[in-house]
Amino acid sequence: MNEFDKSLENQKTGLKHKKKTVTDADKKFYLRATGGVRSAENGGRSGRNASGRVKLLDSLKNEKLKKLRAKKTVYYKKSLFSSVSGNASQNGKYSISFLKGDYKRQLEVEDAGGKSFKRKRNVKLRQDIVSVSPAKVKDRDRFACPECGETASLRQLEEGCKGCGETSFITDIFPMCGSYYCTEASRLSVSDIVRVTAWCCALGAVIGIPAGIIKMVADMPQFITKEKIYEMIKSVFITPFEGAAIGFLGAVLIILGILIFDNVRRSPMIAKTDETRKKITLFMSKYDSDFSYDEFESRLIFLVQLMLYSDNKPALGAYRGTGAINHSIADSVYSGLTEFVKADEKFGICSVTVKVTMYDVYCFGGKPKEQKDTFTVTLERRGSVQPGSSEEAGDKECAKCGEHFDMTTNKKCPFCGHEYDMRDCDWTVTVFK
Ligand SMILES: [Zn+2]
Ligand SMILES: [Zn+2]
Repeated sequence: MNEFDKSLENQKTGLKHKKKTVTDADKKFYLRATGGVRSAENGGRSGRNASGRVKLLDSLKNEKLKKLRAKKTVYYKKSLFSSVSGNASQNGKYSISFLKGDYKRQLEVEDAGGKSFKRKRNVKLRQDIVSVSPAKVKDRDRFACPECGETASLRQLEEGCKGCGETSFITDIFPMCGSYYCTEASRLSVSDIVRVTAWCCALGAVIGIPAGIIKMVADMPQFITKEKIYEMIKSVFITPFEGAAIGFLGAVLIILGILIFDNVRRSPMIAKTDETRKKITLFMSKYDSDFSYDEFESRLIFLVQLMLYSDNKPALGAYRGTGAINHSIADSVYSGLTEFVKADEKFGICSVTVKVTMYDVYCFGGKPKEQKDTFTVTLERRGSVQPGSSEEAGDKECAKCGEHFDMTTNKKCPFCGHEYDMRDCDWTVTVFK
């Protein structure tokens, strides 16, 4: 590559990544919003400051659980020494921070027969936080009411929401949680390492006590002198410490074993996912100079979960496929693995096919059970559009009658019946199997 090509390449990458740094305010919002996530996953309201997309998925999940006559409880416990980290990007008038934190996720699913399923998993909880500069908000922008989720213009929300009557200002709406999901994290968290070590040491020390007494009895001399008594007492006190030290070594070996096993198991998966990130970014940046893989990934997981939880896929504007199998899935967690299959472009429509692996908990009459599923997903979008993940989930102004409707859930305008193709504005599922 010559100097000219190099500088051209640098200019291009400079354009592509309008990165900004993650602020402390983002981190504070993340910690506050994860509380809302917890209540949402348990069938409660997803709380204020969640986008329409988050609310849509939560209501579908809860409908699904009712249909399966199942009960789901999810607990999140922050891992010891876990810190919130991530990156941020600027997308038009919005800036989006992609933040991650380490948690232990504990899931409990109980089906109609009272059979229950429990599973603990170390996860990275990922959340997209969307902020806006108020000066850039236009009259025709629609936002979800923080109370009830009804979409309306900012002025309407300031005057009082049509759905619930609450008054909301821009500071009540932003920052907002654009989407969230869990990704499987390594098998051992720092708190697990501390716990394993403490248990092994304690076990060693406890075994050391009887061992010390046995040793003392075995070493008992015929004539007890003052010095001998001193030595005997000393040995009884020392063995628990020796036991704890042996326990510590044992713990180190166990932890190393798990870490090596985990690394061997996960590294091909991480390598494949990194390759997917590179290939899709390279392909899409030809059509969209602002393309962000982080945004694409969270949209992909949103769409996969939409397909899994929705029982009426053909009615969804976000689905243009033919297969419409309904899944009896009560819970679904992203494994973090996305494998690239192919990407091409025809008549301005970009098509990306990937294989996504999820950990799903099924609930059909019998005992709830977990299964690792790999879905082949094809997403299509007009290359030249920039969907802006932050704009209210699929909100669209009808070109015929001017009413607003949700494109993710409707193929046709519910007011006048005018038909739309969601691929003209945003990623749309065309194959899901
Ligand atoms: Zn409302
Ligand atoms: Zn219309």
